[in-house]
Amino acid sequence: MTCAVADDSWKSGLTPPVKDLRPRTSDVTQTRGMSYQDLCLKRDILKGAYEIGWEEPSPIQEDTIPLSLHGRDLIARAKNGTGKTGAFCLPVLSKIDPAIEHPQALILVPTRELAMQTSHTCTQLAKHTSIKVGLLMGGSQMREDVRAILHGAQLLVATPGRALDILSNQNVKCDTIKMLVLDEADKLLSAGFIQIVEQLMALLPSDKQTLLYSATFPAEVKSFVDKYLKDPTHVNTMNELTLKGVTQYYAFVTESKKVHCLNTLFSRLCINQAIIFCNSTQRVELLAKKITDLGYSCFYIHSKMQQQHRNRVFHDFRQGVCRNLVGTDLVTRGIDVQGVNVVINFDFPSRSESYLHRIGRSGRYGHRGLAINLITEDDRHNMAVVERELNTQILPIPRSIDPSLYVAEAQINEKQSEDKEKKEE
Ligand code: AMP
Repeated sequence: MTCAVADDSWKSGLTPPVKDLRPRTSDVTQTRGMSYQDLCLKRDILKGAYEIGWEEPSPIQEDTIPLSLHGRDLIARAKNGTGKTGAFCLPVLSKIDPAIEHPQALILVPTRELAMQTSHTCTQLAKHTSIKVGLLMGGSQMREDVRAILHGAQLLVATPGRALDILSNQNVKCDTIKMLVLDEADKLLSAGFIQIVEQLMALLPSDKQTLLYSATFPAEVKSFVDKYLKDPTHVNTMNELTLKGVTQYYAFVTESKKVHCLNTLFSRLCINQAIIFCNSTQRVELLAKKITDLGYSCFYIHSKMQQQHRNRVFHDFRQGVCRNLVGTDLVTRGIDVQGVNVVINFDFPSRSESYLHRIGRSGRYGHRGLAINLITEDDRHNMAVVERELNTQILPIPRSIDPSLYVAEAQINEKQSEDKEKKEE
């Protein structure tokens, strides 16, 4: 099929962001060389992508956008941070008919933070259209969410529980939903969510198109796939799990020395922004207090906080208001903060899946990043399991870490002049 927009005249009058000149790894550059124009997306949607700064499609976008536009059901695998959101949002938005003021597509994601992030991306992509995006998630007023639909939202981005509450409401029409996306599908089809997702499936038309996106597809998803997907196409853009741009180190410590070790890391590393993971909400709060006492700026986030507070922290951290965020696994799945170049596992996670998603918060879109693990005697076994299951290597932390492994050139220069100024003082 040919559908290329031959000239670039549609870009006139648009303002792309400043070009991101940081080097990128083959995780996002190894494509077949197609352009967005070649992918048959609507021009108004391309305009939105251009204004976000997406110039060329990533491998998962190149491979799956044409299939989605053709109406295929999909099971698509791609690494963290390699453009999955665009891979489904671009065709979904392209297929929405702005003249029909009813929900036409539903994107399900596992956390509220990811729902906010995804609906924001959709709104940006749809900027040059009249498409309305509705965000349905727990922690907000149900009335507001219903109102969004009754006011003609055509694309719904939702967490499963709230989607079920709203779509089972008599006043809400869901027979017009023709596309369903499960982002982080492995999570949505795992024990905590699968029952809700199955109930939702019963409400949605059976002839809809279904797209599953995830970094991993464990065997448990098979029964769902067999039951609900129609002759799905499998796309896999990865032959390893971890990102090429992320260097992983460990430091052996005792529990009582962890804060001291963190303090040393803070003083030695070139941190643009860091996410520091703990294994419980209590430990998150305790650590955030200790970091603040050490004199470093720090936010924290976990699921027991009030939603409004969570929203503010997430928003401000993304804006770069604060350098460090201490969190639980709540901020793993899909969360995209481009400024994060360092992830620290203050507590080592017990599951490989959690490790993979945590370290994927740095090294977004093929950039470089650093993952540092504080390992106690009790974690040794888990670390070996993670290395084996993810087929990766976590190296002992060297005395000094080459900044070019995780810092953009401009930041290295900035840090050097800061250090020089300090010396002179
Ligand atoms: P995702 O994997 O969807 O979470 O995307 C990770 C990051 O890559 C986000 O910051 C996106 O804005 C960015 N991104 C996605 N697609 C592109 C693209 N084609 N070009 C540049 N950046 C992109």
